[in-house]
Amino acid sequence: MSDQPVNVPGAPARVFADRHVGPSPGAIEEMLKTVGYGSTAEIMAAAVPESILTAPGRNAPLDLPEAIGEAETLAELRDLAARNKVVTPLIGQGYHGTFTPPVILRNIMENPAWYTAYTPYQPEISQGRLEALINFQTMVSDLTGLPVCGASLLDEATAAAEAMTLARRASKSRADVFVVDSDVFPQTLQVLRTRAEPLGIEVVVADLSQGLPDGDAFGVLVQYPASSGVVRDPSALIAAARERGALAVVAADILALTLLRSPGDLGADIAVGSTQRFGVPLGFGGPHAGYMSVTEKLRRQIPGRLVGVSVDAAGRPAYRLALQTREQHIRREKATSNICTAQVLLAVMAGMYAVHHGPHGLRAIAEQVHAHAMDMADALTARGFEIVHASFFDTLRVRVPSADRVLENALAAGYNLLRVDAHTVGVSLDETTTPADVAAVLNAFGESGRAPEEGAPVVDEDRRRFPAELARGVDYLDHPVFNTHRSETSLLRYMRRLSDRDLALDRTMIPLGSCTMKLNATTEMEAVTWSEFAGLHPLAPLDQAAGSVEIVRDLEAWLAEITGYDAVSLQPNAGSQGEFAGLLAIRGYHRSRGEDHRDVCLIPGSAHGTNAASAVMAGMRVAVVACDEGGNIDLDDLRAKIARHADALSAIMVTYPSTHGVYEDTITEVCRLVHEAGGQVYVDGANFNALLGWAKPGEFGADVSHLNLHKTFCIPHGGGGPGVGPVAVRSHLAGFLPNHPGQPEAGPHTGVGPVSAAPFGSAGILPISWAYVRMMGERGLRTATEVAVLSANYVAKRLEPYYPVLYTGANGLVAHECIIDIRPLQKASGVSNEDVAKRLMDYGFHAPTMSFPVAGTLMVEPTESEDLAELERFIEAMIAIRAEIDKVAAGEWDALDNPLKNAPHTAEEVTADEWGHGYSRADAAYPVPSLRRDKYWPPVGRIDQAYGDRNLVCSCPPPEAFEL
Ligand SMILES: *Cc1c(COP(=O)(O)O)cnc(C)c1O
Repeated sequence: MSDQPVNVPGAPARVFADRHVGPSPGAIEEMLKTVGYGSTAEIMAAAVPESILTAPGRNAPLDLPEAIGEAETLAELRDLAARNKVVTPLIGQGYHGTFTPPVILRNIMENPAWYTAYTPYQPEISQGRLEALINFQTMVSDLTGLPVCGASLLDEATAAAEAMTLARRASKSRADVFVVDSDVFPQTLQVLRTRAEPLGIEVVVADLSQGLPDGDAFGVLVQYPASSGVVRDPSALIAAARERGALAVVAADILALTLLRSPGDLGADIAVGSTQRFGVPLGFGGPHAGYMSVTEKLRRQIPGRLVGVSVDAAGRPAYRLALQTREQHIRREKATSNICTAQVLLAVMAGMYAVHHGPHGLRAIAEQVHAHAMDMADALTARGFEIVHASFFDTLRVRVPSADRVLENALAAGYNLLRVDAHTVGVSLDETTTPADVAAVLNAFGESGRAPEEGAPVVDEDRRRFPAELARGVDYLDHPVFNTHRSETSLLRYMRRLSDRDLALDRTMIPLGSCTMKLNATTEMEAVTWSEFAGLHPLAPLDQAAGSVEIVRDLEAWLAEITGYDAVSLQPNAGSQGEFAGLLAIRGYHRSRGEDHRDVCLIPGSAHGTNAASAVMAGMRVAVVACDEGGNIDLDDLRAKIARHADALSAIMVTYPSTHGVYEDTITEVCRLVHEAGGQVYVDGANFNALLGWAKPGEFGADVSHLNLHKTFCIPHGGGGPGVGPVAVRSHLAGFLPNHPGQPEAGPHTGVGPVSAAPFGSAGILPISWAYVRMMGERGLRTATEVAVLSANYVAKRLEPYYPVLYTGANGLVAHECIIDIRPLQKASGVSNEDVAKRLMDYGFHAPTMSFPVAGTLMVEPTESEDLAELERFIEAMIAIRAEIDKVAAGEWDALDNPLKNAPHTAEEVTADEWGHGYSRADAAYPVPSLRRDKYWPPVGRIDQAYGDRNLVCSCPPPEAFEL
């Protein structure tokens, strides 16, 4: 808090910042006393290097609109919503109208128990969402006919790009060619091109209905049904591809697969796609869960997270993320994908949609969609229109005298159709289409003026308009979970049962360093599911999206102001994607100056794993810069690395404040050294919660940053996604930001191509960050930063007598997080940081970040949103745990049989007739008195990680596996 409290007298109820910031003015005073400063401004001035401060006093305002209250914000959002025009979207292209079952909308999408959870790295407190994700994996795996599926990718186009690089790694062919059918979604093709170019992959586009072009290739991608709607049997093509040593990738429509033979059955190696039309709102482009499934042979190559089954300490089956050690966090520059945040919440929704409808329900939906498409095709044919493809599922291409006329008529009736060219119109039907819709759209076509063709329409007996050999029976989703919850009562209780197994922000602070688990205020969340925002198709004409576009433009301007950069793109749909886009901008800039040879990216050893992975994806070579014993970038090593790479230097990628949680005072020097050598400076802005309102990377020497709106700007983590990772650049890089083939307004025409499927990325969740900035204003945002830094220093100070704080900066202060070192205690007691993390579950907490960026440590980030009472509850737990460690060290408790090694304790163990431990049941379950009133019981004990990797199972285990 600056000199005076944010609370404006006379209107206390209207000041949102006071509700966002946890500690009261009185508490802040108390915390300041403990840390030894007179005001939060003073602590900032002492912690942040003078050279980067934008606002040495408190009156250097950001140019942001004056803060308004929650009611006013909702009113403004209502006005913006009213400027969107919801037109029934029959555009298709990978995005379809869908009916989100309200029981899922309210109890998952709008439920903080689901949307505020973190990525399930701590599986014992994540069994609910892990089960929901394994349902998703099983659903995709069944429908695509491929046994291994991950727990979501970012969207269909990036999933296709991941499939391309996977195919290159796995193929025996040494060719650099990836063949793509010309009838794929334009955004898929363009994202493939963006991602292929830096890696030296040649994307060859060909009409694969004519067979595979000559020449070697490592992979082939075909869409099924195709972008034009045509359904062709891809099996001959797949066979031809495999014959040449190429992997076959099929981009498949998840709903069509309930009627059509699966890609796996047709011989494909990889299937990719989107699960949006399984109940996930369009949201003007996202967020939606992309999927990828692969053959058994490729299971260790699949990018992103994979939920698997293992056992806990008592031998019960338990879910956890499989093959974690091969994740990008460990593999860094050897990483093959940079995916970190994915689309968990949306994957949970899509999986629940399948649980809700079951195999026969899904099948019925697909049959209805297909029937409406057939009706429309027959009626159009009867009116003399030519339907381009006789074989289709839900999408028709229709030849018309004037496409513009038909589109106009349709719009007047409330429908958006796809303009393919001057004489061709596309219509995609979906589960929300009614016979009245079909009639209205037919009306829009009018009469062709031609006589119907002889013989048409063909009405086939079993009402099907695709090749008979592609028809499929209900050979999917036979697991009981998809066949049990037909009543809403049952489904409601199932979802509640799952969320009750998990710890999310609605129950406890989640002090995860680097992840900024702060308040996701309800007012911020409200507008996301309003139909005016949720119902917009990403390719809707912009004049129908005026409200959403204004939110995009406002946020771009506000984020530019806040970061000191000149241009912002909101297209990247995760931090990792923002990194990739930022590095592409650097690459484009060097190349525009004829400096193509600049391809080395310097990255400190402490960097987040995505940094190196993104650099590799952007075609760069990674050189690691050492850190000194204080955790800071070693300037001598930096100079040496710059000298060594000289003219090859492309960029340095640094996190600020560092991943060690300190404000390095050498940052301006680092920027200067790199610039002098002709390199560009990328500042990873995921830790922006420590800078907002106090320093601007665009002004202190950086050229480009990404921000994580799902950290600093209040988008909830959703259990591991969605996210938004905007990239912000100085003007010389602005021409190299992402753009989009379907929307010229989405980026510069000189841009590097799209990095996401949708023009404005996950536009559907931008109202959250918009509302945050609108309600906080410059003063509130600055205060949030100050209190975040104060809270981290308060926790560090209070824990210091019990746990050494590993790194501090100027005046012994940390930034917004602190690393506590468990290694010395481990040496004395054998108790590891993992034991402490698991023991915290017995105390009702989610563990801090474990072993990142330093093995054997815990990184605590309290954020500004936790009030003093909650901070104290955490501190009390940590102090109590220290006393437990001492008992082990002193030999009072056995080195192996103690509450730390055996944590977490389940209710079943604690209440068992047998209790063979050298400590009491009360010690196990109620180590501090407050737990007697409010106790969280982990549903499983400690999970055996190695067992699960040795025995990889990544679809729903049969119910017998859970028999007691
Ligand atoms: C979270 C984080 C990232 C990656 O962001 P995602 O949205 O998960 O891709 C990158 N760098 C740092 C420092 C982070 O904390």
